[in-house]
Amino acid sequence: MVRTPPEDIARLWQQASRSAIAFRQGVADRAAAPQEDYAASLRSFVATLPESGSDPAEVLDDLVRRADRGLMTPTGPRFFGWVIGGSHPVGVAADWLTSAWGQNAGNHQAAPAASAVETVAAGWLLELLDLPREASVGFVTGATVANVTALAAARGEVLRRVGWDVERDGLFGAPEVTVVIGAEAHTTVYAALQLLGLGRDRVTRLPVDDHGRVFVRPALEVLSGVGQPAIVVLQAGHVNTGAFDDFGVLVPAARAAGAWVHVDGAFGLWARVSEQTSHLAVGLEGADSWAVDGHKWLQTPYDSGFVVVRDEQAHRRAMTIAASYLPTPGEGERDPSHYVPELSRRARGFAVWAMIRTLGRDGIREVVERHCACARLVAGRLRTEPGIAVLNDVDLNQVLVRFGADRPDDEGDRVTRATIERIRADGVCFTGGATWLGREVMRLSVVGFETDADEAARSAEAIVTAYRSVLAAGSAHGS
Ligand SMILES: *Cc1c(COP(=O)(O)O)cnc(C)c1O
Repeated sequence: MVRTPPEDIARLWQQASRSAIAFRQGVADRAAAPQEDYAASLRSFVATLPESGSDPAEVLDDLVRRADRGLMTPTGPRFFGWVIGGSHPVGVAADWLTSAWGQNAGNHQAAPAASAVETVAAGWLLELLDLPREASVGFVTGATVANVTALAAARGEVLRRVGWDVERDGLFGAPEVTVVIGAEAHTTVYAALQLLGLGRDRVTRLPVDDHGRVFVRPALEVLSGVGQPAIVVLQAGHVNTGAFDDFGVLVPAARAAGAWVHVDGAFGLWARVSEQTSHLAVGLEGADSWAVDGHKWLQTPYDSGFVVVRDEQAHRRAMTIAASYLPTPGEGERDPSHYVPELSRRARGFAVWAMIRTLGRDGIREVVERHCACARLVAGRLRTEPGIAVLNDVDLNQVLVRFGADRPDDEGDRVTRATIERIRADGVCFTGGATWLGREVMRLSVVGFETDADEAARSAEAIVTAYRSVLAAGSAHGS
């Protein structure tokens, strides 16, 4: 008999949950940076292909032991490395159930509950983000695939309007599509264009300001001359500065020119849930499609993102998979696969539903406001330290920092790099690095659920301490 004994299921899952609980209860006390790098992690995993099986409980123990030192801490309170959300406990719990239930969210017959929960969660998302209620929503892995899906719908629809069926006939011989994009669009938007045959470089780039925002006046000139078919891509929340394009002016201009307007709002779209930040994102509701993440500000576990498309038919034309063995949805029935590139996939709607139920509109607003306040707090503290410069207007949750700002550029680059390294070695918090306007910078993204004012203050002190010790080491070295 191959049937798994009930007590084995219980033992194995209790073992996994004990280990997961211990990790999460202790994550705030771990060093914020992983204890070993990729090479060391690889050494701890590498082994010849197992020819015979092993006891599952031993396998799990071994997995935990080998992974542990290479685990990052986005679920902890002082992780600011990238825009990586905190995998809220209830989202993780719902996600465990999703795996345990083993639902294939392909269609409404294969998984009625998974399909139905998406219908409800999709409606909630449109309300929370205040997007057109008639829009369709696909549950994808993240904003990357949301961008791909939305731009596939855009490509199909703008070509259909000029008499070309790209879903049937492909791009060979098709009328040329003009793609207009802010020069500081997220790298995944370029990836989407490259995947869709629209070309990464075959685009009209709109010039941007020192926050990565599209300059309005030259943009309006480009848009007034844009022919059909055309797609315009704008951004809500620049990954370094948190800046928003001027949707109130640009969206109507692009639509008046007959273009499809797509907004990449992976984390920035959530600014719309709070009166403190919603003014930044005014006017984007007039666009045609949006990409937004669940695994950033909504705190669902990885992976979870949403593609929202105003024109459901365009969305479905671009994504539909049809076969005789697949059901055709009836009126009001949702087949999740009609809105995403995949057929079989994780039933992500359960965790989304659980997160929104748990936090509610008030709770989600509180998270966004708390994180923006933490970003301002850190920026305020760093600004008081001589030689540290905050380079951006901290309107959202992103802080861009330059160390040795009072020194020559190359020296400032060196000090900035060294300070980031020092911060990681000290282990109190984890921050990122980037180049911005040609110079090395540190970036902080406040987006993990556990981060509050106390943790932000502690992190700011750790950053200042690391900077001072880099300066002290530099002058000791020089003497
Ligand atoms: C994170 C991010 C993306 C990519 O999203 P994934 O969830 O990593 O797929 C796209 N655009 C912006 C602005 C982002 O911040």
